[in-house]
Amino acid sequence: MAEPYDHDNIFAKILRGEIPAKKVFEDPFALAFHDINPQAPVHVLVIPKGAYVSLDDFLDDAPDAQVTGFFRAVGKVARELGLAESQGGPGFRVLSNAGGDAHQEVPHLHVHLFGGRPLGPMLVK
Ligand code: AMP
Repeated sequence: MAEPYDHDNIFAKILRGEIPAKKVFEDPFALAFHDINPQAPVHVLVIPKGAYVSLDDFLDDAPDAQVTGFFRAVGKVARELGLAESQGGPGFRVLSNAGGDAHQEVPHLHVHLFGGRPLGPMLVK
């Protein structure tokens, strides 16, 4: 069974403005900010404004408008950062860790958006 949402997780605190973040995008559905420990020249996290632990419970529980709004926001961030090939950019990678095997550290759904260099193989063996 999925763990209950922890309202004191670090991304909940960022959403409430209790701790700072280097914001790059915000709309009614999502907030995007730079990862504190970047793994690529561009490493941005996109989080929904609702209380969801992971992609698992988000896709199971969230209203369709929130799911659509969130993923459209991910696309807007990629385009606004100049990464999307549709805008002449070099491309990007989106990744979301959900649960233990994926090493999810922060229990608020987040999508990692990477870019700015060739990103290599998708998984380290
Ligand atoms: P995950 O392993 O998918 O849960 O990734 C959590 C990510 O959150 C890591 O890449 C961390 O570097 C990042 N992170 C943790 N705390 C902060 C913070 N306060 N601001 C920005 N990024 C953070």
